[in-house]
Amino acid sequence: MQGIMTKNPRIPGRRLLHSPGPTHVPDEVVHAMSRQPTDLADPRVAQLIDACESGMKRLLDGAQAEVFFYAANGHGGWEAVIANLVAPGAQVLVPGCGHFSNSWAEQVEAFGGQALRTPWVEGHAIDPAAVEDVLRRDSGHRIGAVFAVHTDTASGITSDLGAIRAAIDAARHPALFVVDVVASLAAAPFSMDAIGADCVMGASQKGLMTQPGLAFVGARPRALEAARHNPQPRFYFDWERRRSGHQYRKFCGTPPLAHLAGLEAALALIELEGLDQVHRRHRRLAGAVHAAVERWGEAGALRLFAREAPARSVSVTAIEVGPGIDPEALRTVARERFQVSIAGGLGPLAGRVFRIGHLGDMNEAMILGCLAGVEAALQVQGVPHQRGGVVAAIDHLARSEGD
Ligand SMILES: *Cc1c(COP(=O)(O)O)cnc(C)c1O
Repeated sequence: MQGIMTKNPRIPGRRLLHSPGPTHVPDEVVHAMSRQPTDLADPRVAQLIDACESGMKRLLDGAQAEVFFYAANGHGGWEAVIANLVAPGAQVLVPGCGHFSNSWAEQVEAFGGQALRTPWVEGHAIDPAAVEDVLRRDSGHRIGAVFAVHTDTASGITSDLGAIRAAIDAARHPALFVVDVVASLAAAPFSMDAIGADCVMGASQKGLMTQPGLAFVGARPRALEAARHNPQPRFYFDWERRRSGHQYRKFCGTPPLAHLAGLEAALALIELEGLDQVHRRHRRLAGAVHAAVERWGEAGALRLFAREAPARSVSVTAIEVGPGIDPEALRTVARERFQVSIAGGLGPLAGRVFRIGHLGDMNEAMILGCLAGVEAALQVQGVPHQRGGVVAAIDHLARSEGD
């Protein structure tokens, strides 16, 4: 890429960012993050923290949840959950849904926990029946928690959290229900209270439209109680230590002020638009992407990786390519010639899919621009595709005003 950079030192106009994280950051958030820091005794700091905590509680719909913020990415959020909830040798059930469930399970194992996995069937969501089966067989209740990824960003598949909750209940198992909402929050509907999640974690750079670097955890009383009895050593991530009215303790040191200011602005934008509207917009734009991919796929070389329509994520779409097609080369052409950044395949899907992110600060013009850039790259690369994906997307958007 160095050569391209030197030949072309200035790229006019905007580049379209369609990675499923980091996502496009709205100007309001950029400006909020560029403010000078304040001294920590300034009452504005307390106001800022309060706005972020209360805004996150509303967004998570967790009335009794306590919210903790960390200067960390999503992996840091995972680690916060593990450090507080997984005692050495403890068992956690991580239902298989692809790359991200597997990475979280590996992190549990790195801390000395035992991660039990249900099998992942490619192209499909978490199987609630498999979850129920494992929990029913655990008659001694050794499994302390179920760690479920809501949207697997690598496969573009969203699992049915209500069905997983029902599986835990049907097995009459007391395991904590812990959910990764990194890629789904502020894109797909989610309610901590409605699904009875004891703990959720997420990060700033996806649906929350903020620069990468801020992770959060929401924990309800059962999770806080479990953490209190967990002997695993911890300090920075420790919820007990952070449950303090004192800001310096609450953040285990200096709060990440710029990120908090960005999050405050992003939460205000979400509330201004209205969360229902945010969800509808994501569904509408995702539908446009799916329509385009289905049109391209009529030539037989491309298809939606998610096999079942209800499991298709509103945040990101993974597109499987046929043999002999190099998704990384396609990505490079899309980025360097057409100024559209898309994502590649992760883990088992590396070299087999490319991905279009459509979450966060996104509108119709951005989606159509992205799809046009990808269609142009398909043409340049000679990837067999039915032309008119952009037309199919326009048809979808024209039909679905306000939906
Ligand atoms: C992106 C992502 C993560 C990891 O976040 P990082 O900030 O990259 O560490 C975890 N879970 C899901 C579902 C994600 O999409």
